[in-house]
Amino acid sequence: MSNPPQSFISRLIRKEQLTQDTYSLYFGRPQAFEFIPGQYIKMILNIDNPDERGTSRFFTIAASPTERDHLMIVTRILQSSFKKTLGNLSIGAEIQMRGPHGAFVLDEKDIRKRVYLAGGIGITPARSMLVYLRDKNLPIPFTLMASFSNKDEIIFQDELTSLSNDARRIIYVITSEEGRIDEEKIKKNIPDILNSLFNISGPPGFVSAMEQLVKSIGVAEENIKTEDFPGY
Ligand SMILES: Cc1cc2nc3c(=O)[nH]c(=O)nc-3n(C[C@H](O)[C@H](O)[C@H](O)COP(=O)(O)OP(=O)(O)OC[C@H]3O[C@@H](n4cnc5c(N)ncnc54)[C@H](O)[C@@H]3O)c2cc1C
Repeated sequence: MSNPPQSFISRLIRKEQLTQDTYSLYFGRPQAFEFIPGQYIKMILNIDNPDERGTSRFFTIAASPTERDHLMIVTRILQSSFKKTLGNLSIGAEIQMRGPHGAFVLDEKDIRKRVYLAGGIGITPARSMLVYLRDKNLPIPFTLMASFSNKDEIIFQDELTSLSNDARRIIYVITSEEGRIDEEKIKKNIPDILNSLFNISGPPGFVSAMEQLVKSIGVAEENIKTEDFPGY
């Protein structure tokens, strides 16, 4: 099931603005490039005067492996020299990439119920997993609880809501209105907590808070997988 990482050059095909500062970027996908939902790539840019964080970053492939003609990533274009360069790329620009990497993946042979807790941009692996479940018609029960600070920051809502059904449940939590994901919200929305496999991704503070929360509810350590997105 593992796909060894490879280095390749890809071209920017399309940019789409999702919120005030969040963009999805679509890149060409080499025919032989295979990955598992939840994996990420390293992107390396040519930057004239890079800041101390350097010329590469990791990005989850928010596209599903079933989307054969592109690799899509979603990011917030903030102040770093990397992000400024990324935001200014023209359509057709060539980018160096290496991947896939990562073990925070959807193992489709494991049919246990999934609960996915996402903080902000940490929703990207969940988008890949949900589109994959839909496209492959896999009956794995999957509940996404995606937390955003306010309505203006929400991404993917229409698309994910449109692929929801009895098995794939999508819940957005707007923390400025409803408060954070807490024990009450989890118990209200997740029927079989102790037999579910939890995936948690987002800013490091979100991931550690959610990990502590689900452990305090009684979820065993081996039923929790996490992925930190540093820099948020
Ligand atoms: C597995 C994985 C998947 C990711 N997926 C995505 C994704 O889908 N979308 C996305 O936007 N980002 C993703 N990231 C994060 C991404 O690689 C960048 O770090 C992030 O986008 C911030 O980049 P930046 O250039 O804006 O800020 P940066 O210049 O990277 O950093 C902003 C601030 O965070 C601090 N910081 C950065 N990295 C660290 C660190 N490792 N430890 C402590 N402090 C740090 C910096 O000092 C600075 O203050 C992922 C990271 C990982 C490891």
